[in-house]
Amino acid sequence: MAWRRMAILALAAMTLVVGGCGTAHAVTAHPSKAPAAAQPGVQNDAVDDGQPDPAPSSASSPRASGSPSGPAGPKVRGKSGTPPAGLSGSPGSGHGPFGSMTTTGSAAVALTFDDGPFPYTSQVLDLLARYHIKATFCVIGRQVAANAELIKRIVAEGHTLCDHTWSHDLNLRNRSADQIRAEMQKTIDAIHAVVPGVPMKYFREPGGMWSAQTVSIAVSLGMASIHWAVDPSDWTRPPIQVIINRVLSHTGPGSIVLMHDGGGDRSNTVVALRTILPNLVSRFTLIALPTT
Ligand SMILES: [Zn+2]
Repeated sequence: MAWRRMAILALAAMTLVVGGCGTAHAVTAHPSKAPAAAQPGVQNDAVDDGQPDPAPSSASSPRASGSPSGPAGPKVRGKSGTPPAGLSGSPGSGHGPFGSMTTTGSAAVALTFDDGPFPYTSQVLDLLARYHIKATFCVIGRQVAANAELIKRIVAEGHTLCDHTWSHDLNLRNRSADQIRAEMQKTIDAIHAVVPGVPMKYFREPGGMWSAQTVSIAVSLGMASIHWAVDPSDWTRPPIQVIINRVLSHTGPGSIVLMHDGGGDRSNTVVALRTILPNLVSRFTLIALPTT
């Protein structure tokens, strides 16, 4: 029937759009913060401060990917910079899209939190501290200066920072090399203005929309590209128990786990962490991604 074919096409289109963090709420812009978000080609999810997401359709059919999605692109070997030695292999030698990393290279599990710093970041930090867990925060550069205290706290409490670009541009892979490099470098500079000299050894592409070029440019800036092995799609705001089940059932030795402390209402993620963290810490060693 025609309607069924339409539904299938719509689902297929949705699948193309749902690439991980930040895609469903990418069109959300809070009116009061419009000036900072009105630049052409710049995604606005990062300024969503908890308003209902306008594209909740994917939340009704979220995927719980236990394995990374995306094409297996060409391997990109390190050319310069000082990539972290803690991960096995060199940057670009991972098993995610375009050689991005999906595992830690050991049995240790790495929790990663995207799209902050954001109001929920402090709640995530409180929970991590309660269970003595170190994690990795993939931060958006343009949010750094206004949340400098959160950046300082992330570093002071032993977590690792990761570059999630300046503006969370979901089309980053289609920009010029200069634009891509600027998105990464501006974020590094903003972080170093707050915490001088803090290691910036990791990059995560917005939405996980990797390309060979973005991975290569990250390498040139000394950063390994991190994808994920476990994606509970918490950014689509599924029920708390769904987030819990997806993380706990898919996490295994070495998993890099993707969750979100920013980009929208993360109250369900925070509540889910109250169950997820004690469970994971009883089963795995949890690490901040190594910076040396
Ligand atoms: Zn993101």
